[in-house]
Order: sequence, then C-alpha cells, then structure tokens
Amino acid sequence: MHNCPPRAPCTRLFFAYTQPAPVNAPAGREPGNGAFTMIPKPPPREGQIGFLYIPPYRIQGTSVAGEATTLMVPELDVCFDMGAPLRCALASKYVALTHGHMDHIGGLAYYASQRQFQGMGEGTIVCDKRIAPDVHKMMRGFNDLERQKTPYQLIELDENEELEVKNNIFLRGFATEHTSPSFGWTLVEKRSKLKPELVGLPQEKLRELKDRGQEITNTLEVPLIANTGDTLPGPHLVRDDVRKAQVVVSECTFFEPEHKGRAKIGMHLHIDDIAEWSRVLECEALILVHVSRRTNITYARKRLDDLLSGESRERVHLLMDHRACRERYERQAAEAGTAS
Ligand SMILES: [Zn+2]
Ligand SMILES: [Zn+2]
Repeated sequence: MHNCPPRAPCTRLFFAYTQPAPVNAPAGREPGNGAFTMIPKPPPREGQIGFLYIPPYRIQGTSVAGEATTLMVPELDVCFDMGAPLRCALASKYVALTHGHMDHIGGLAYYASQRQFQGMGEGTIVCDKRIAPDVHKMMRGFNDLERQKTPYQLIELDENEELEVKNNIFLRGFATEHTSPSFGWTLVEKRSKLKPELVGLPQEKLRELKDRGQEITNTLEVPLIANTGDTLPGPHLVRDDVRKAQVVVSECTFFEPEHKGRAKIGMHLHIDDIAEWSRVLECEALILVHVSRRTNITYARKRLDDLLSGESRERVHLLMDHRACRERYERQAAEAGTAS
C-alpha cells in the first residue's frame, strides 16, 4: 500500500514512471532513477461470448474444452450445460445437461442461486436419469455450505423421453458415448398435419369425422436443434432427429491430424469425424464448439477449408471464432437493413 495526499487522485499505480520510487521501496517497487518502473499488468480480459444468428435462432454462450461450456438458445428457453456461470444464460428456464464433467456443470449452483436472487423463478435442470442423484447431491452440498436452501427443479429423463419446453416443442435426450454417462439433446417441433387422404374435404365433414372419433391428422416431427455434447462418433449421430435438424451444435475437440488417438482416448470428436459426418447431415448450420484453448482459431479455420468445400464448408461455423462470427453478423445486419 502507498499513501496518497488527501483528495488527490490516486494515480501512482498507473503512472509509476512519473516519479522515482523511494530508495527503501517496499517489495514489488524497484528503487529507480526516474526512468520506467515495472508495474504489474492488469489481468487479461476474460473471454467474449460466442454468438451466431441462424434465423430464427440465436446460439450464444461460451465453449472451451475442459474449461467451460454454456450454450443458450434464447428463443427456445433452453441452455445446454452450465459450465460457465454466464449472466446471459440466467434467463433460460431450462438447463439441459449433457454430462457431469466439471466444464459442463460448474456454474449450475450459480444459475439456481442467481435466478432466485433476481426473482426470476426456479431454474429447471433437465438431465439423464443416470446422473440425477449426483446432480442433487452437488446442489444439496451448496445448501449445506450456504446454510440456506436454493430452490431448483430437476427433471430426469430416460433416453428418448421428452419434455415439452414450449408449445409443441419438445426436448429429447439420446445416449452418446463419453468417459462418463452422457446425453445429446434434440429440440423437435410437433406439427399436426391433415391426413393426405382428407385434404380438400369441407370443414363440416372433417368436424363430423373428428366427432366420430376418427383421427384426422398425422403428427409431423420437425427437428430444430441438435446438440451432441461430448461424444465419440457413433450411430447416435445419424439419428433422424439429429441428421435432419436445422441447426446442429457439435463438439470438435481435436483438429491436428496426429491427435486422432487422443480424441479416441478422451472419447471426443476429431475434425476428420466431423468432415465424414457432415456428408450425411442435412442441417443449414453446423456449429462447432468445445475447441480446446491450444487450438489456434486460424489453424482450425484452415483445417476446415482443407477438409470441406463449397456449401458444406460455408455452413460450418466455429462459435468461438469471434471475428468470423462478427463479420457474418454484420453482413446479416446489412442485408436486413437493405431489405427493410
Ligand atoms: Zn467437456
Ligand atoms: Zn466431458
């Protein structure tokens, strides 16, 4: 600590070079001769929030392998995982957990607590039945530590069991393959469609059939968003509700050709898996997340350029490639401006 004259602005920490430091300076301040004195740098700015707009959905959040993954789709009130305690994810009524690794659940207690603190109502955690008791245990551990009870709801689902999160929109979990019990998730919309053989019949006739108890509609399932969570490749990635989803969010932890073995050991996807899988995906956008911090984003872009081309390259985005995402958004904004 150093003393400042009364009411004088305390600028010495930032302008240490303006005055020579006293000869008997406390540790950390070098005795100087009036030249520059080293002062510690402020900490690096903490990461930016990734953001992509795939109309009508926003995919936003953060995702770095082993550190934290929190991915929110505001339009559907669902957040996948809560590894980082993001303020912008608090508004999600539902948090669907892919698995119990720290980088995917570390911010869960914060989520429940802040929702309560800000009067946003109880948060709802949705998870694979196999991990539900452990999630409860973790949340109750916080109650014990805090000497207060933070309310939360936990809905446990079996594989392929569904939860209606919005009118006609259902959250469905599917088993994946990772080093701990793991789920991927899909959000599907169910639309009622008149049976083809009844198309063209007058309303009264249809009402009559309905009143007689005859089923007049078929349910059409439209997969909106799929999220793989951490996983190895496998048949779960080519399910209809994943393959035909409008937006697919997928982990891709390894990019280097020589890291295929590491991907297998950690039970993760490698960029080669993505390239192969991409051939059967019908999505409009494939968003890659869970890239590790040691992967340089320019290198990741280059690997995508090498492995994919044309439309299949254009639809792939790296959520944490902030520059590319910002440029894309600016183009969208400019197009919207010219359209209106
Ligand atoms: Zn992870
Ligand atoms: Zn994991």
